[in-house]
Amino acid sequence: MDKIRRYLVLVICFFILCSSLSFHSFARQKSLKDSLSQWAIHDPKRPLPPVVTPGPPLPPVPPPSDAVVIFDGKNLLNWVDSKGKPARWKIEGDYMEVVPGTGNIQTKMGFGSCQLHIEWATPRPPKGSGQDRGNSGVFLMGLYEVQVLDSYENKTYADGMAGAIYGQYPPLVNACRQPGEWQTYDIIFHAPKFDSEGKLLEPARMTVFHNGILIHDNVELTGPTAHKTRPPYKAHASKLPLMLQDHSHPVRFRNIWLRELE
Ligand code: MG
Repeated sequence: MDKIRRYLVLVICFFILCSSLSFHSFARQKSLKDSLSQWAIHDPKRPLPPVVTPGPPLPPVPPPSDAVVIFDGKNLLNWVDSKGKPARWKIEGDYMEVVPGTGNIQTKMGFGSCQLHIEWATPRPPKGSGQDRGNSGVFLMGLYEVQVLDSYENKTYADGMAGAIYGQYPPLVNACRQPGEWQTYDIIFHAPKFDSEGKLLEPARMTVFHNGILIHDNVELTGPTAHKTRPPYKAHASKLPLMLQDHSHPVRFRNIWLRELE
């Protein structure tokens, strides 16, 4: 009898723990969504996050053994332009650089959920201001942008600064290094899931570290990212190319690798 009672108590405790955990996560996502809906897209009144000075830049972070290396500094063989022709950005040293006017580039391979590592540097000396300074972008699946921008002593709307999930979430802090210095993004991306009729089952989610500092903690995306609009989800393939943006600024990228997640 005692055994049964103990067992029952254990089961009840487990049930309470699980439901409180799931309520906690539900409440967190709900408060994130509420905080998003209170701000118009690119709202200039949306508060800018506090500045946090990261540690000094480091040499490239070596890829782990199970990573897919997408760019190792040697060539652009894994990349094409938006028309499927060879990518025309330039390679110097161990990095690639946007050649303004040649267009966005994307990987030949498609990827879904993943852990992505990418390093970038904005032009030094800096030129322009606001969105017109060191602008590029890392588009997971070609649709979900983590903004690249020189946000070092350069103000713009909060949901469009460096590290923002463009038009949706400003980063938790501004962890930008100075222009010309190498910076890192480590992104954990969960692709959205759709059923066979194209109905959304699970939204995309992202966790992002900028220069090793947490700037997004498992946020739910409202749909693809876009300028001045928050479009709804539209069913798409489970794997799509990773895209980097030509925003007419000579931004550099190096050491790009990812680990695919099931
Ligand atoms: Mg951009």
